Amino acid sequence: MMKKHSIKISNATRYYPGAAKPAIDDISLDIAPGEFMTFLGPSGSGKTTLLSIIAGFVGLNAGSVEIDGQDITNLKPHKRDLGVVFQQYALFPHMTVFQNIAYPLRQRGVSRAEIETRVKRVLDLVQLGDFAHRLPRQLSGGQQQRVALARAVVYEPRALLLDEPLGALDKRLRDRLQLEIARMHRELGMTFVFVTHDQEEALTLSDRIAVFNNGKIMQVGTPTELYRSPNSLFVAKFLGESNIMEGSSRGTNVIVRPEHIHLKMPTSKLGENELSKAARITEISFAGAHLKVGLAFSGGETGLSLITAGNPLQLQRGEEVLAVWSRANQHTVMNDDQVAAASKS
Ligand code: ADP
Ligand code: MG
Repeated sequence: MMKKHSIKISNATRYYPGAAKPAIDDISLDIAPGEFMTFLGPSGSGKTTLLSIIAGFVGLNAGSVEIDGQDITNLKPHKRDLGVVFQQYALFPHMTVFQNIAYPLRQRGVSRAEIETRVKRVLDLVQLGDFAHRLPRQLSGGQQQRVALARAVVYEPRALLLDEPLGALDKRLRDRLQLEIARMHRELGMTFVFVTHDQEEALTLSDRIAVFNNGKIMQVGTPTELYRSPNSLFVAKFLGESNIMEGSSRGTNVIVRPEHIHLKMPTSKLGENELSKAARITEISFAGAHLKVGLAFSGGETGLSLITAGNPLQLQRGEEVLAVWSRANQHTVMNDDQVAAASKS
């Protein structure tokens, strides 16, 4: 187990030259020692910029970055002692796997015997023990990325920063490497900061997720917190699916997750704490363990209901039903502009 380190970002703002609005807009974030923190958001929302600010590749116009309470805002990247992995493997093509991984240790003047031991250890960690003498071009994309991971952790940096490291891989390989990254995090016990635009990947891997939009963090929380209690329409839409309806007070919306929408016959009586909306079934499809029912609500909104255990009502496409949910399972969120305004103050 390695020593665990915290990262603190305070009021970070970054304008790229000539840009009218900042790529990072007054962001503050605490990353706990040993935490797996994910930056999740659409393309262009500022994830790479903030990761590059932590790495030291991109400077700040305002704000600061600290590791373990020590200000590193003006420290050169190679002095920060952070491991970095990007989407492109960036291995040295003329060096073997062993030499690639040994490189950062050589740079630091580590002894030959110690290099031998450490490279062996990380090769085992990424399960490439038999590939030490291959060249990068003799490896698959997934294997190359595992070498890049091994090289990034071999000198025991204070944290590992990963920018969409699985983005170039096909779905099957991505799923496998996701599990390997999770295992690496467990075994190393190191702080990981991981960038992705893929909500499933974020939900699978993270201790906490920071949801980015427009250079701001909309919400930070555990996967469960973000799914159960999104603070905005943006977060609700970005993580999982929801039924979205107009709220009773101005600037609010009510969301209900599909697994909490039950379908009843239009004439059914409701329980005391049940709410409902008339809907027409637009689609029914099987999704493994449950039935996915597409809905058109009477107000014009579209919706989705997930029903487990078969189709007891013999529902059919085109049928009029009552979409029913319990008050406890509805969640009121502010409109996004109001969340952004609130996070300013
Ligand atoms: P993400 O990683 O979430 O896709 P980025 O951090 O790469 O987002 O980009 C945030 C914003 O900054 C985008 O509007 C992007 O066009 C802009 N941007 C990113 N890198 C540069 C750069 N080197 N020069 C100018 N603008 C940039
Ligand atoms: Mg990016």
